Amino acid sequence: MATLHPSGVTYGRRAAAVNESRASEHGARIAAQRAARRDIGTSDPGPERHVGQPDLATHEDEAGRRAGLRRQRESPHRLLRRFDELDGRRAREAAEVRSIDVQDFEQDERQHEHEADGVGRHPQDPARAVRSHQPPHTPDRGARSRCILRAMRSLDIHAHVTPQCFWHATENGGEWYGIRRERDASGGEVAIVGPGRQSLPPKARWTPEERIADMDSLGVDVQIVSTYVGFYNYHFDAEVAAGTARAINDELAEMTRTWPKRFAAGLGTLPMQDVKASIAELERCMMQLGLRGVEINDHVNGRTLEEPEFRPFWKAVEEMGAVVFFHQAGETLVSPRSKRYHLPNSIGNLADRAVTFATLVHGGVMDAYPNLKIVLGHGGGYTCYGIGRMDHAWRVRREAREHLALPPSAYLQRFYYDCIVYTEEALRFLIDTVGVERVVFGTDWPYDMALDWPVAWILAMKSLTQDEKDAILWKNLERLLGV
Ligand SMILES: [Zn+2]
Repeated sequence: MATLHPSGVTYGRRAAAVNESRASEHGARIAAQRAARRDIGTSDPGPERHVGQPDLATHEDEAGRRAGLRRQRESPHRLLRRFDELDGRRAREAAEVRSIDVQDFEQDERQHEHEADGVGRHPQDPARAVRSHQPPHTPDRGARSRCILRAMRSLDIHAHVTPQCFWHATENGGEWYGIRRERDASGGEVAIVGPGRQSLPPKARWTPEERIADMDSLGVDVQIVSTYVGFYNYHFDAEVAAGTARAINDELAEMTRTWPKRFAAGLGTLPMQDVKASIAELERCMMQLGLRGVEINDHVNGRTLEEPEFRPFWKAVEEMGAVVFFHQAGETLVSPRSKRYHLPNSIGNLADRAVTFATLVHGGVMDAYPNLKIVLGHGGGYTCYGIGRMDHAWRVRREAREHLALPPSAYLQRFYYDCIVYTEEALRFLIDTVGVERVVFGTDWPYDMALDWPVAWILAMKSLTQDEKDAILWKNLERLLGV
């Protein structure tokens, strides 16, 4: 199954053999890879340590010594990348080693499935274990998957925070801006937000340190943190919503300052029912708190964001270079039709996101502010699948051309889309429709609708090239956010 390297790393058999046999031939590159591998599986790096930051290992030759000096300043991921850039041969060999890792992982997985009794291998949810791409969460295999998954970087733009200030304030029946908390019949936490009751999963309470431990287990290096959407509070009095936004944004900023390598950036929340107040808080987020943008709902109390009242908001967003991450909250377009079967979420999120794309495009926002950086959560919902019909409408119906000189499909590449689409076929379709440079990694931590083993899921895909996986897992978000 796997061998134990003298340094303490659990290697896949074949990957270890490749590394050992090539060490003498390609001293610098292999030394760097080995250092990265040796380090990344040894221990929890802790909050302030970059994942995989290597020590100064011994080196057989001058090239290795120089590589070691460079490693003092660079992460092994960057180091591997730079070596990859040296020439095509090295890049191909590096890809081969990574490919072997994934193959070995999959072989181990099949072997394990053969040995296991089929279900009940996932301690939290046995039903999840039957899906073939999920590594069973046993301790030794957890270490094994961490070793593999950390061979490359991963940045997650879809990671929610239920702020600690809320948990602390609502302890012992207290209130946080009028929001209370109680337990349901099964002992689960419920936030009482105005007239609404919102269930919170156990992970929502986790401290940043506990988040980091969970990120380690998932192979996620960096979370771009944003609020739990149940606290948008657009339906509150604007001053109250501004208060909760400030408190949440302060906490997000504190996370990015305290753990800059694990929470490299934050996306604030705004009191969108008051455009002036939103612009003021956006400015505070961008200029004072060091956040990189905001997360907002697909609508503000039923009004979509192309409405004239929001033009000053878009102008400010563009001028400040803020990233806008669209994410629904609560009821969606499906809710009035059916609240059963989790359809307001499983179907409604996707419908809402397609409406956001369409209204911003048809409403002229994308033409008026050409430099907007907008990320559509959940793969943009039904946008890509439905774009042909939008184009057809643009051709045959005057009202669909009212503000639009080009068909809606011409705007697909003006947006970014997270990868939360659940099937490889859907992700491949998304990439082929919008271009891989527009697809970014997201997980939806910490909810039950999150991708289960998000990094492993991407890495194991047969229909994606290594370059496409790199682009999705980290390159596109590095470029978009400057992290
Ligand atoms: Zn989410």
